[in-house]
Amino acid sequence: METVGARGPGESRPFEAVLFDAGGVLVLPDPTVLAPLLVTYGGSPEIEDHRRAHYAGMAAKSRAAASESDWDSYNLAYVTSVGVELELQLLAASLLDRTRTAELWRWPIPESVAALAELEALGVPMSVVSNASGQIEWVLEHMGICQRGAGVGVNMRAIVDSHVVGVAKPDPAIFSFALEHHPETTSDRILYVGDSVVMDVGGARAAGLHPVLVDPYDDHVGAEFTRITSLAELPALLR
Ligand SMILES: [Mg+2]
Repeated sequence: METVGARGPGESRPFEAVLFDAGGVLVLPDPTVLAPLLVTYGGSPEIEDHRRAHYAGMAAKSRAAASESDWDSYNLAYVTSVGVELELQLLAASLLDRTRTAELWRWPIPESVAALAELEALGVPMSVVSNASGQIEWVLEHMGICQRGAGVGVNMRAIVDSHVVGVAKPDPAIFSFALEHHPETTSDRILYVGDSVVMDVGGARAAGLHPVLVDPYDDHVGAEFTRITSLAELPALLR
């Protein structure tokens, strides 16, 4: 994995704050729903296989340079990844598309939940910037992952939902709704952690943030941006 280097003298802590994408970074489309859904067509019942399928889907979506609303390449890669039989893949992809509603992006990624707590203990300022449907702040709080201010989950300064603010990644303007809550830090010292090359790496770069791609299965070997296997690698970038 590429590391964030260039730590010059006196620059022991090049990054001071983290903004997070939600889907694929904090939560996944609920595999406890999608696994039984696709078993009928030959899909794997294993949660781990569905975790892998999400990132295979995102890699396909990025390769296709698909827009945020175009999930065709994601759906086909997902059902293929979990082992749906060839002649049933289009049917299964269509069913996946209709089942994976905004509300189903709710399964907390265990490594991410643990890493958020560690970052909070380190005093790292954090926020969420998500292309969503108006539901993501409620979902994150309801699942006990994070909320604005103190609560059951970790403390976020801002939770930005594209549907609420009216602008979506990769438009860099969406990040300003979070950055206004981090006035003490310049954008080049803030990480943006996402799972989409087009929406997250592209959008964060355009906003002057340092992009980090969650790439647990090395789908993006050789990429020229920072990649991490899980959020557990973030504290090392911030200390
Ligand atoms: Mg995402």
